[in-house]
Amino acid sequence: MTSPTLPPQLARAEPLLWHNPQRLPAAAALASLPYGHADIDAAIARWQRFAPLLAHCFPDSVAADGRIDSPLLWQDGELLVKADHALPVTACIKARGGVYEVLCQAEALAQAAGLLEGGNSYAVLAGDAARALFARHTILVGSTGNLGYSVGVMARALGLQVEVHMSSDAKAWKKDRLRALGARVVEHAGDYATALASARTLAAADPASYFIDDESSLLLFFGYAAAARDLKAQLDATGQLPTPARPLRVYLPCGVGGAPGGVAFGLKCLYGDAVQIVFVEPVASPCFLLRLASGDDRLSVYDIGLDNRTLADGLAVPRASATVAGIVQHLVDAVVTVSDDSLLSEVRHQWQQYGLRLEPSAAAGFVAHRLVASQWAQDVIPVVWTTGGNGLPDEVFLPLLAS
Ligand SMILES: *Cc1c(COP(=O)(O)O)cnc(C)c1O
Repeated sequence: MTSPTLPPQLARAEPLLWHNPQRLPAAAALASLPYGHADIDAAIARWQRFAPLLAHCFPDSVAADGRIDSPLLWQDGELLVKADHALPVTACIKARGGVYEVLCQAEALAQAAGLLEGGNSYAVLAGDAARALFARHTILVGSTGNLGYSVGVMARALGLQVEVHMSSDAKAWKKDRLRALGARVVEHAGDYATALASARTLAAADPASYFIDDESSLLLFFGYAAAARDLKAQLDATGQLPTPARPLRVYLPCGVGGAPGGVAFGLKCLYGDAVQIVFVEPVASPCFLLRLASGDDRLSVYDIGLDNRTLADGLAVPRASATVAGIVQHLVDAVVTVSDDSLLSEVRHQWQQYGLRLEPSAAAGFVAHRLVASQWAQDVIPVVWTTGGNGLPDEVFLPLLAS
């Protein structure tokens, strides 16, 4: 299947910079949406309510203020790195979305059971009554990796049951890591889409089950969106004042679209046209570019002859989230696709030069920045979002350096 609106490099799996012709000025794009600042404020308020509980549950990784945020680093005085590969709890950006949606569900269960009445502090959610309640409920999620882990860590910390549905070809170490948490891992013979569909069906049939849907969840989306406020506070502290004449240019690795979409939405709400959003995808899995360029929610990368096989397993998604695409289609400035080879050499470079431990997905922003610098010259403040990697075991990370 081909379409006249698709750039020819796309089906040839060649790296490219694609400017989104549907992009609108931020004010116009945001005005047409049923979501806005209030949704981000609500997410931030929920993170704050849970802060003491998070500090209690994860004393080794979450600071006493209970915030799940990462450092903002300068690299060579040239670009900024939003270091979510070092995020507390799960060392990947899913800690902003997956953890958040588990908190939403825990809050809803506790409220329904009357545990949060009378201004009770959220510390009661770590108590015996809450744990007994949570033990009777199950969170289901379909995941090839990082989302399942983030959901699993948070849910198990609260005493919720967790069932992670995976395709049987998902990496063994990821399954082991989940089982070690006390999560049930259900393997499916088919691909990821099959795993997702069965988790969704199971959860719909059981009132004590709750399904976290990577393809359509708005809670994930707004959990991610709250990150925009974290970045802005850090930029303010460094004295950086982006303007439309000298905007931030933020590179966001994109899989199904929830994480980059949520962050993009949050940043456009805060900065308007003083931020440019660049999604980055592997050449074999450019599902979001395909969705934006075709306007067709049903198309997958298989339909244009691509195989969705990439080292960047966090981004190996054949079809974009229709929900997210509908929200951000006028907010994304550009999409860049990158090759696996360039990701691998970037993983090595970032480790050797700067000591950053990245998974291939998380190196995508640097590669895109290099590619774009020559083709899209403008005075900008580049920000590369590194989305995961500190949690990789040595036996997974070291071979990446050697290959
Ligand atoms: C999931 C993930 C992404 C992208 O998030 P989506 O919501 O799937 O678009 C990027 N990087 C890493 C490391 C991830 O695990």
